[in-house]
Amino acid sequence: MASLTVLDMGLDFKTYATYRDDHGRPLLGNQFQYPTASLARSFHPTCGLLVGVLHHAIAQVGTPLAQSWLDAYRLLQIDFVSQHPSNAAAATSLQKLNQGRCDSGVIEELLILLDQQTGLSGNNMPSQRRPTRDPKLALCNLHMAAGKCNQDFLCNQLHIKDLSVPHRAEFFAHLADVLRHRKNSEDVIMHRMKDALFFSRFGNRVTVSDVASQAQFFKTSFTIGRLLHALSLPGARACPAPGVCVSEDCPGVHIPGGTPQHRPLRLSPQEVMSASISLEEDAMAFVKGKVEASPTTLKWNAAVDAFVQHSPQAHRRRNSSDPVLIETLAAAGGSGTLSDEGFTPLIKEVDTKRFEATIPESP
Ligand SMILES: [Zn+2]
Ligand SMILES: [Zn+2]
Repeated sequence: MASLTVLDMGLDFKTYATYRDDHGRPLLGNQFQYPTASLARSFHPTCGLLVGVLHHAIAQVGTPLAQSWLDAYRLLQIDFVSQHPSNAAAATSLQKLNQGRCDSGVIEELLILLDQQTGLSGNNMPSQRRPTRDPKLALCNLHMAAGKCNQDFLCNQLHIKDLSVPHRAEFFAHLADVLRHRKNSEDVIMHRMKDALFFSRFGNRVTVSDVASQAQFFKTSFTIGRLLHALSLPGARACPAPGVCVSEDCPGVHIPGGTPQHRPLRLSPQEVMSASISLEEDAMAFVKGKVEASPTTLKWNAAVDAFVQHSPQAHRRRNSSDPVLIETLAAAGGSGTLSDEGFTPLIKEVDTKRFEATIPESP
């Protein structure tokens, strides 16, 4: 199944980049897969997305995957035409797609039609853009923060439809699991969760500083202090050794050298109040695991359950009533996370390849 790799720059993955599982794989990333069949459901048609989909189709010509990209393109164009019924180029694209051709010739024609549909000229025309070697596309953070993206259809980024952003909920739930398995205290977990939520909602809008220089929140390195400063909470102090201190427990703000200055932007007292309340509530929900499980998490949990039930090793250990294993299994059932330290003893004993083979393919 073909899928679009989406890079979500609004997630504070860098803070946790060093967190790895036994196989050296990052525990928390900011890349998410959207199957082609879900693209029109998940994203508004934007120029950047349509061009990206056609570039994927070209790269896959001659394989069955090319058709799934063109199917996604057709659904996105149907969405566009429903809102812009007078756009002749888009309507012509749909007619072409309905002919059922799936070769590089038709894709070139679709790119030319997309030039007309967008009205762009010069190097920025869809047909003049070269497929990027890096298949990742960034989500439009403006739009995700419920702000307005001025570029609308002409935007080169992705505009997600569901502003609750399901993949982010997965990220935060996973983050809570990782922090818990790393034996952080409840207070620390809550603080880090709130910091991560703040990062995704206000990271590019809010300026923090504890001395003369200042930076957007998302450009600072993680410290305990940065959220305290952003929300003017008690405990905020100046970093005792600016430029030298690298402690994450620092009550100050760490701004990497060379970070550009910008026009300071702070939350109003009312915004601070409502942000504090919503961060507290949302962080609590993620930490306590009361968030509704996403379809991906449910599928993952089911795969884990099925595997554990059929694993002879797991049976042996379960039958020996190993209390640690029982705890681990209970945790696995509730969290859907396998790569954490807490589960390592179980995973080390089984054939990982076979485990991966039991995970159902994405729809
Ligand atoms: Zn945009
Ligand atoms: Zn410091």
